[in-house]
Amino acid sequence: MKKVKAIGLVSGGLDSILAVEVMKKQNVELVALYIINGFDQETLRVRSNISLDENKWLRDKKAYMTKSLGIDVRIIDISEGFLETVSSARYGYGKNCNPCIDCKISFLTKAKELMLELGADFVFTGEVLGQRPMSQRKQAMDLIEQRSGLEGILLRPLSARILPETEIEKKGWVRREYLLDIQGRSRKRQIDMAADLGITDYPAPAGGCILTDENYSRRLKDLFTHKIREELTPEDTVLLSVGRHFRLADDVKIVVGRDESENEYIEKVCNDGWLAFAAQVPGPTVAIQGKSGEKELVKAASFAARYSDAKEASEVDIIVRKIDQEKTITVSPVSNDELERYRL
Ligand code: SF4
Repeated sequence: MKKVKAIGLVSGGLDSILAVEVMKKQNVELVALYIINGFDQETLRVRSNISLDENKWLRDKKAYMTKSLGIDVRIIDISEGFLETVSSARYGYGKNCNPCIDCKISFLTKAKELMLELGADFVFTGEVLGQRPMSQRKQAMDLIEQRSGLEGILLRPLSARILPETEIEKKGWVRREYLLDIQGRSRKRQIDMAADLGITDYPAPAGGCILTDENYSRRLKDLFTHKIREELTPEDTVLLSVGRHFRLADDVKIVVGRDESENEYIEKVCNDGWLAFAAQVPGPTVAIQGKSGEKELVKAASFAARYSDAKEASEVDIIVRKIDQEKTITVSPVSNDELERYRL
């Protein structure tokens, strides 16, 4: 008889690790699915560092997860399409730009696709009833199950015994008595379980999603307001996680690197527009996005001067460059008051 097979949607967080551990007690073949939506801090860190190789990082990540979970792991990148999910969240946002219900639906829709591709029978997650205000309320969990096309075949092993019995349990694919009854925001039971199992290496819950970050969300809303949705790319959202951002006008924005790695990244992704650098002292790379007339170049140069080592000088020489055009302009550093007026 064919062994029952399940796809486990894992995030790398403790709950999904424990869900896998609970499922290992069942007579079920397990495959873990890790989805990259382009907004977790780890992916952004890799994508914004030009000296890191994303393919190697993915290979290493897969090997690490396979070893630590002890089951086959698949990684799928949905960054491209996920931008649409974020910009037009059908079920609304959490406190910041986090469209958690839509996000869960898109992850589980992918999990269902993998389930069908691999001939698996059901999907499970590490969700805990009542743990998150937006996406882990009973009503939201039902909606997510229904919208992802997994009605009756989605198991939440950590809370299953306080949720209605699923087809998975009714058919005897898993034994309900081995499932758990965790609910609420307290993490105590999970932390105790992790200690019992000797699991020590896991990130803080929800700590990785930059869509829950207030500053990043402000920049993202600005991007959605000023750029046509069809033209948005994953690079745009990576750039928002890098440097300082200033909106000078509806059609002009300035990005200032904060360290060498950010300067390199800005120089690489903004190389089709004007860039500004201090001519004689160390300083950041400054990119001008949008309208770039003489007035905007002088303003961007004043930002480059302000963040250079010559910020106390009355005048600083700044090189402005675009592909094969280059000139030097002399400016005063922008004042702190003016700077704050534009900051995103
Ligand atoms: S916190 Fe981020 S990754 Fe998690 S469900 Fe919400 S949007 Fe998705």
